[in-house]
Amino acid sequence: MTRPLPERVVAAARQDFEVEVRETNAPMKPGEMRAALVLYDGVLPTLGDRFDADVFAESASPRCKVLANFGVGYNHIDVAAARDAGVAVTNTPGAVTDATADIALTLMLSVARRAGEGERLLRAGAWEGWHPTQMLGMHVTGKTVGILGMGRIGQAIARRCHFGFGMQVAYHSRSPKSLEFPAQHAESPEALAEAADFLVVAVPGGAETRHLVGASVLKAMGAGAFLVNIARGDVVDEAALVDALESGAIAGAGLDVYEHEPTVPDALKGMENAVLLPHLGTAALEVREAMGLMSVDNLRAALSGETPPNLVN
Ligand code: NAP
Repeated sequence: MTRPLPERVVAAARQDFEVEVRETNAPMKPGEMRAALVLYDGVLPTLGDRFDADVFAESASPRCKVLANFGVGYNHIDVAAARDAGVAVTNTPGAVTDATADIALTLMLSVARRAGEGERLLRAGAWEGWHPTQMLGMHVTGKTVGILGMGRIGQAIARRCHFGFGMQVAYHSRSPKSLEFPAQHAESPEALAEAADFLVVAVPGGAETRHLVGASVLKAMGAGAFLVNIARGDVVDEAALVDALESGAIAGAGLDVYEHEPTVPDALKGMENAVLLPHLGTAALEVREAMGLMSVDNLRAALSGETPPNLVN
């Protein structure tokens, strides 16, 4: 296990395996990853452990047969290089869906209703008391949400917006969806951005989606609209986002992920209309336990010669 994990997860793994838990929360270095491929039958890696082609290149036929990733997003692993080296890669879909959708709603409400800014004002001792025109934000109920990436998490966000906040739902993903509530399919990210009061990013990271939200999408959003990103930082062109916020091209942003995580541009930190969370999408004990138990199930299946339930390569 490449990070300390909840006790229940380690205990579940110990029922079937000899387990070593790496004691630090720092991402693995390339040398550690190469060594892990040689030393262990299975590795349970996570976000930040960049198993790229170079790491696999030196191990033609590694002892390790499975990377049972802790998390649904696996863009830090070169899955083709893993497959070529005979290493299965698995992830943890579903376990993360509701918690991540909840964080998207937290960000939408916080940025539109100026919650972060209000907290800072109060804690700074600058609150002069309620008055009718104090800190007016945007009303959320009834507005239009545009979901970029209508997969498991995108749909969970849309459901909350429709049933909880009476919002109109529009979306863009590779294929149209049939859903239990009305939702308009947009032909491009730009068309979606034009229609939305909130553009919420929920596509996977990786080469295909890098900077999918760039200057043209931000321009299409317009001065009244908010961007929320709970997906991966590099889906959004962060420099273009800073420009759009500074120039007032969009109204604000709620971010859980960053292009060069954990580095966050000072420009963003200085803006009142940016709500900035430290990648909290799945940060609840029961969710992290469910993710870990799912990883252990995948590990167990792969090492028993079965097809793991959540194989991605
Ligand atoms: P998913 O079910 O695979 O959904 C991904 C959606 O993105 C699908 O609807 C897919 O379209 C769409 N998509 C993929 N590539 C696209 C492209 N190039 N253009 C337009 N749409 C595209 O994945 P999920 O479980 O919802 O998770 C989504 C991502 O959220 C994960 O990969 C992960 O990176 C991120 N995440 C973040 C956190 C956090 O802590 N902030 C937590 C969990 C997950 P189709 O349906 O047409 O294939």
